[in-house]
Formats: sequence, structure tokens, C-alpha cells
Amino acid sequence: MSRREPRLKEKHWSPEMELQMQKVWEEEDTYRFNPNSGKPFFSIDTPPPYASGKWHIAAAIHYSQIDMIARTQRMRGYEVYFPFGVDRNGLPVEVETEKRYKIRMFEYPREEFLKLCREFLDEAEQDILSIVRRLGISADTKNYFQTDSEEWRAVTQATFIDAWSKGYVYEDYRPNIYCPRCRTTLADAEVEYKELPTKLVYLKFRVEGSGEEVVVATTRPELLPACKAVIYNPDDDRYGWLKGKRVITPLGDAIPVMEHPYADPKFGTGLVMICSYGDKMDVQLFRELGLEPKIVVNEDGTLNESAGEYAGLTIQEARERIIEDLERKGLIEKVETIQHRTPVCWRCKTPLEIVPMREYYLKQVDLVPELEEYLDIVRFYPEWASNYWRDWLKSVSSDWPISRRRYYATEIPVWYCKSCGKPVLPPPGKYYQPWKEDPPYDRCPHCGSTSGFEGEKRVFDTWMDSSISPLVYNGFGWNEELFEKLGSSDLRPQGKDIVRTWLHYTFLRVHQVLGKPAFKHVWISGMGLDAKGRAMHKSLGNIIYPWPLFEKYGADAVRFFGAAEAHHGSDFRISERKIEGAYKFLQKLWNVARFISQFDEPEDMPELEPADLWILGELNKSIERALSGYERFDFFDPANEVRIFVWDVFAPHYIELVKGRAYGDGVEEKRSAAARWTLHHVLRAVLRLAAPIIPHITDYIWRSIYGGTVHKELFPEVRVEWDTEYLELGRKVMEFNSLVWKTKKERGMRMKDPIEIEIPEELRPFEDDLRRLHNIK
Ligand SMILES: [Zn+2]
Ligand SMILES: [Zn+2]
Repeated sequence: MSRREPRLKEKHWSPEMELQMQKVWEEEDTYRFNPNSGKPFFSIDTPPPYASGKWHIAAAIHYSQIDMIARTQRMRGYEVYFPFGVDRNGLPVEVETEKRYKIRMFEYPREEFLKLCREFLDEAEQDILSIVRRLGISADTKNYFQTDSEEWRAVTQATFIDAWSKGYVYEDYRPNIYCPRCRTTLADAEVEYKELPTKLVYLKFRVEGSGEEVVVATTRPELLPACKAVIYNPDDDRYGWLKGKRVITPLGDAIPVMEHPYADPKFGTGLVMICSYGDKMDVQLFRELGLEPKIVVNEDGTLNESAGEYAGLTIQEARERIIEDLERKGLIEKVETIQHRTPVCWRCKTPLEIVPMREYYLKQVDLVPELEEYLDIVRFYPEWASNYWRDWLKSVSSDWPISRRRYYATEIPVWYCKSCGKPVLPPPGKYYQPWKEDPPYDRCPHCGSTSGFEGEKRVFDTWMDSSISPLVYNGFGWNEELFEKLGSSDLRPQGKDIVRTWLHYTFLRVHQVLGKPAFKHVWISGMGLDAKGRAMHKSLGNIIYPWPLFEKYGADAVRFFGAAEAHHGSDFRISERKIEGAYKFLQKLWNVARFISQFDEPEDMPELEPADLWILGELNKSIERALSGYERFDFFDPANEVRIFVWDVFAPHYIELVKGRAYGDGVEEKRSAAARWTLHHVLRAVLRLAAPIIPHITDYIWRSIYGGTVHKELFPEVRVEWDTEYLELGRKVMEFNSLVWKTKKERGMRMKDPIEIEIPEELRPFEDDLRRLHNIK
């Protein structure tokens, strides 16, 4: 008997069946990494998602695409190391914790605050993990990493100690970008810009020793007490006469007028006041022009004594007050409201200040030329995405301030000798908390004193932890045997929004530790946007959450949509209608497989008929195109290729054509066997081609019909002997089929009704199958 009950029992594919599949994977540990398999390794530097909020659907799709990379590599014969980690350090966690418990970090005991952060993180983390598991992501989520674990933090500290010993770390007192709300220094990479309505105030300055007046426009009148010079552009003819003169500010200070090309003749009046410090440019100009800075802004964003009568006010208050005062004195010509590109904190969106502080710096400016060489060695997907990093490297102009005055982060492992004040570092390998622990030594190596040490209270910028993910994941500092095997990661997958932070810092840090590029491949994805093309934000109210979609359509439908919607690297819009379309395709695939599952699969390949050779030729083409997409880690072609092949060619034409032959209706057994063999052969190929994208349904079908798991199979290969002349003819067969169906419909006939129609001469090889299909007389 070649025919039996379908081995796929269920009439339809449903999201609940995905859960059965996931249980099987968990029980048999299908995706376990085996360091002794003898296969070549491929390791992925999975982005540790930030445990600070609920995931939206775009994040879910991003991670399922990364999973497709892992599955692709397994099916290309690699032993894939696919770790999972959760990022639990830094500012976002603290800001969320403050919000949730309605407290201020600095008014709270440090130890207690850390506990609250941890509580919040544990919850947020479970939420993310449950989505990752529901998506069928084949990473190791059982033994997942946490960036705030003692082990991870010990490696962060060890790499800092290593960088220190190599001379990459120094401490300096210099003006830095500073968030007065979070009370912390920020790196250039953490600055965002917002167009904000701002008052442009035209202030009257008097020229010293004469009655003449000049007008200077500024958005920062509250910095007048810190104003040390006025500049104009050397090409600006209006002001040449001011050269070498001094002017009196509205507060009565006499300051020099200088020429500098930075002054834009078109902004305000063309005269610019230089204060310590309105922005990063001021910092540079003070240095260049040899001006003595006068600091008027405190760390908490209020003005200090140097601001005279404005001391104690916040920046906003001082701005209002000084405008009032000067207006009363007739020292303001006019006030305009303009849209001003204002630098704000990436986390809390507060406008940033420039405040000089002592901070630790990690060198990067000197290393830019070495990092630029990596642009030629590392392969980017898509290729043009390397420009994101190239452009950032060009703009790197200051070293990375890595110390932060915050709590929930890895501590800087330094103690200071109470006698000589010099810093002393511990040996690498352990996790240190200098703010509450004694150092592992009692004699100062600098001065020999035993009078004790003061522990450092500051912590690291959170990117110090996440930028060593390819090292920590792969065993550096905790499993030397594993690290020996894997080295640094092979591939970094990530979003384009964190190139200047995560990607850049990782290359920098791994370069400092290993002197090598952190990865061979960098995969940079576009963003998932809402239906109107906007990023999803709580504030916009446009977030689509994944759970309702999982319940309605399942993970595979979401995954298929995520693969088929756009070429890798492009932004895409999330559409429930299209996810529903993907779900319909899964039903089609299920129906096709269920139909085929009623036939036994002949063991040996029989002599094939023209129709069989035609579909195998079509299959060749689809395999070729799909594999070329997989090679570029671009799932658009594989997904669409499989859909078009199954939906437009295989199901409506080939299956219809050979149905009768497969059933054995009045045909010789060997001809029937040829149809059955081909049906199974094509189904096996389709399942393997689609497995990385829709892992649940493909494995469910594979296990039900063939046994074992599709996820341990290799991709199908193109077989040149099937590129025959029947490929072209088959396409004419499809045209002929469409013609017959159309004709019957027009004549009001049922599809089974006999019809008299001429089969074109060139389609003779298919005559038998065609007669049976259309009931041609
Ligand atoms: Zn902030
Ligand atoms: Zn000492």
C-alpha cells in the first residue's frame, strides 16, 4: 500500500502546537552547544537586552532574526555557540527604579537602593525571557548571563586593570558633558539632540572707553557671570573695528573681543559670547584662546557663589531672573523664540550642561587609526552598514570618560592610599566593591605606608560591561578552555541605533585586550517601525506588544513576517494584516505537507517523469536563491522564495498535476512511485529551506513524517542533473493549466468536468498528467 491515513493528524496548524514543539526541544536539548562535535565553531555575540522595560514587537522580531542566523549556521554545518545575556547595569535601571518607588537615588542608602534595583530587574528580566522562549529562539536561555553578576563584573574589572597596566587609563579634571538630573558625566555617544523652543536674547554690551554699544545674541544669558570673551568671524566686515578692544558685559565685567572663524555671521548679530561652559565648543575655545574658565554651574544643576546674586538658583530660574533684571535696566535689545538643537541626556531627556570634574578616561583618540584598519578586515552585513562606524570613528575627538557617580553599576576597582593618596589596584580575577570593602593588601606599594586606604566610590559607565560581551560569553576570565576554542565572537548582530556605543566600544575594548578585531562579521539591522513609519515609543502610544500576536498567529507567523517584509538593513513597518498573511501561508504549508503525508516515500529514486523533473528544476532555482540570501544573513529572499515556490508553483500546479498519478489511478506502479518520491523529496527540501525562519511548523512536520529533527539537517543542495529542458516547458504547463481553468470557469463547468481542448505539441511529454488533471477527452 502506498497510501494511508495522513501522518499529520491535525487538520490545521495552530499556535498551541508551537508550545508542544518547544517542550520537545527543551526535553531533548536540541540546540545544545557541543564543544567536542568536531565541527567548525561559529559563535554569536547576542545583544544582551536591557532589562528596563517591556519588549515591543520590533524587539521580538530583531531577536528572532538573530535566531535565524544561528539556525542558518547550524544548517551550514557549524557548531553554533549561541549564548544569551541580559544587560542589568546602569542609568536606565536606576531611573526606572526611582520612578517605580518614587525615590531619589542620592537620598537613599546605597545598599538599599541596589536591592530595589535588583528587584525591579528580576521582574523585567523574566518578562523578556518569556518572550524569547515563546519565539522559539534557540539560544541557551537556561544558562543565561547577567551583566551585573559577580562573574561578569569581575571580568569588567579585570579588563580595566589590564587597560590600566597597558597605559590606556588616566584620570583628569576637565569639562565634561553632564546631566544635572542624573548627576553624572556622559560620554559623547550618550548625547541626544532635541529641537526645543528656546529664547534667543539680544544683550547690549558697551565698548570700553567709548559710549558705543554692540549687541550679542545668546541662548544662555544665565552664563553671563562666566563670560570671558566675545568673538566675531574674521570675514565679518561689521566688526573689524572691535579688534583689540574690550567690551563691558551687562553685568559690568570687562572682557576682550577676539577674532575666530567659529563665529557664524548669520547667527544673531554675528557676535558670540564665550562662557565656561555653554557647550563642547566653548571648552575648545577656552583652551585655544587661552582663557581662564570661571565655573558657575554646580553638579546638581544650580548656580554657585561665582554667579553672584544668582547663586542657588537652578539654570532655568537664573535664566528667567537675569532676563527680567537686564530688561529692567534696559540692557536687552530684544528676545526672540527660536527652535534650538539642544543636547539632552539619552535617558532622562534633561538638557545637558558642561561641568568640569575629575574622571577616569579610557584612551580612544590615539587608537582610531588602528580601529579604522578593521574596517577593511571585518565583513559588514549589509556591506554599506560599515559607514555607520566609519563616520563615527571620524568624529571621535575626545577620550571616553568611563567613571560615573552612580550606584547600580560595576565598581571601579581602585583604592587610594591614605598617606600618599596614590591609587592602588587589586589583582584581576575577583569582583571588588571598594566603597564597602577593604583592599586585598595592607601596605601601599608607592610609599610603604600601612595607614590604610580609601575605597573608590565611583562606578563604570555601563558600556564598560556590555562592550566586553564577546569576551565574557566565550569564556574569557572564567573558562579558559572554552575561550581557547572559541576566541572572541565570530559575529556581532545588532541594531543600527547602538553603533557608536556598543559596536564602537566593543571594537575598542577587545582591541585593547587582544590586539585583534572583536568579530569577523558584523550584522546591522534596520528598525521596526509602526504603520506610519515612526519608531515605537511609550510617549507616542504606538507600541505593539507581542503576546496578543503570539496568541492569535503564533511565533512562526511573526518570524516569517519579520523575514519576508524587508531586505536586511532596511527599516520596516509592522503590520498585523501581513502577520495574518504569514499565518495563512503556514496553513498552506500545513495542508501541502498533510496531503503528502498520506503517501509512503519510496526508498530509492525511481525513473522520473517530465513533470517531476520540471518541479525539481524549479526547486533547484529556489534553493539557489534562498541559499544566497542565507549566505548574506538576509532572510528576505529565503522567506519569499519558499512562499512563492509553495504557494504559486508546487501546490497549485505540480501537486494538482501528479495527484492522480500519486494515488496510482490506472498508472503503473513505477510511474506512481516517481510522483510520490518527488513529492517527498520536494517537501523535505522546502522544510529544510524554511526551518531557520519558521522552526516550529517545519520541525513538527518533519518529526511527524520523517522522524528526527529538521534542525539537525543540512540545507538542501542544488543538483545540476535536474536542470533540464523541462524547466522551461513546465512554465508553459502552468500557463496551459491557467488557460484550462479559466475556460472551464467561463463555461460554467466544474473543474472535474471533461473538456475537449488541444494540448500544445511541445507539451506532449506532460500529456498523460495533463489529461488526468483536466479530464481532457
Ligand atoms: Zn539624565
Ligand atoms: Zn601610599
